[in-house]
Amino acid sequence: MAPVSFHNTCLLGLLPSFNYPADLIGSMRCSHCEKCCSDTEMELCNADIARLERNGHNREDFVNRGADSIPRLRNIGGYCFFYDHGMKRCREYSRRPLGCVIYPVNMSVDGEVMVDELCPESSSVNREEMESKGRRLRMLLDTIALEVKQGDIRRK
Ligand code: SF4
Repeated sequence: MAPVSFHNTCLLGLLPSFNYPADLIGSMRCSHCEKCCSDTEMELCNADIARLERNGHNREDFVNRGADSIPRLRNIGGYCFFYDHGMKRCREYSRRPLGCVIYPVNMSVDGEVMVDELCPESSSVNREEMESKGRRLRMLLDTIALEVKQGDIRRK
């Protein structure tokens, strides 16, 4: 998965997700290919981390902070910490990071909103979904950048 690759919804995506804004419930449907949850580099905002901690997880277990200080999902054995191989789905689907909700809408290296073709269901994302998720993605990336910057300031 590419550095700013915001992966996917699972079969449970057919159910309403009460945690997220209505404009993020789109046309995309998951086929359980597992691709988006393997070698994830999904970036996390503070609210993502807090939401998962409230459900009993320790950030040391699921957050990986690299040299750039950006918090990302940790992989275990080549898959996201939260991925359940037996069920072939996310163990924290209703609390998954916002980037996971937005995926397969992604950002190109040129900063253009696009749909990640790694996802075999990418063609199920319609224009309206791409545009609304693209706006959310820009806000999310700005938020993460600000939070990392503020964290850097606090550490000085
Ligand atoms: S949090 Fe869930 S949906 Fe997101 S990469 Fe991990 S297993 Fe997949």
